[in-house]
Amino acid sequence: MTDLLTVDDVHVSYGDMEVIRDANLSVPEGEVVSIVGANGAGKTTLLDTVSGVKDIDSGDIEFEGESVVGYEPYERIDKGLAYVPERHRVFPEMTVAENLRTAMIPASDVDESAQLDRVFDLFPILSERQSQVASTMSGGQQQMLAIAQGLVIDPDLIMFDEPTLGLAPKIVEDIRDTISEISESGVTVLVADEQIEFAKHVSDRMYLMRKNTLNYLGERGEFEDAYQETVDNVFA
Ligand code: ATP
Repeated sequence: MTDLLTVDDVHVSYGDMEVIRDANLSVPEGEVVSIVGANGAGKTTLLDTVSGVKDIDSGDIEFEGESVVGYEPYERIDKGLAYVPERHRVFPEMTVAENLRTAMIPASDVDESAQLDRVFDLFPILSERQSQVASTMSGGQQQMLAIAQGLVIDPDLIMFDEPTLGLAPKIVEDIRDTISEISESGVTVLVADEQIEFAKHVSDRMYLMRKNTLNYLGERGEFEDAYQETVDNVFA
């Protein structure tokens, strides 16, 4: 299977502090890959480097066979690499429709009405509330809107950082189903989350980020034991 995204020997620092040491990651086309790890382990930093929000010190990041290092975040979006950051950063004063249209600006080739139809099919609640101001919606609905903002650029790969953060268990289930539907629709997914059960449920393969290092745990069916072993060693 072709890797849509590869991270090769990537090092990242904040000032003198090394936050990611020699990370290697492969995301095969069509799969859901997750990175689990405790708060502060470096998951967000890794997704930030893939999206272009944060520069790397060394190494390479390839998307669809080409290095994206040096490209601005909006250029990576235009290449089909969507990023839904932690804590649903929707525009609170804008309506649902305005949020979605704004999210499409960096992507040059999208069919606006087709993409709106697509996200309204996936999230009927957003269709019903197109004119509602985002800040007046619940946390779960705002998270759906944040996911929809990633999807309207018609991405080949979409990254989610902590999509379950602060959400009630029922909403976490909805997010899980949504990620499965997104994957079934042909979009490759990379998700970082602290909730192991959630990650295990949605993932085809899994990585564990701990102490600045990314560890590959394996494919579905393998990562249960690999994770337990690592957790027993690290978090005991
Ligand atoms: P969380 O779930 O809390 O987002 P995480 O695994 O995503 O955790 P990161 O947010 O990537 O972890 O943080 C990794 C390390 O980098 C932490 O020690 C954090 O304090 C540090 N860090 C993150 N952002 C910055 C920044 N802008 N400046 C300096 N240090 C930072």
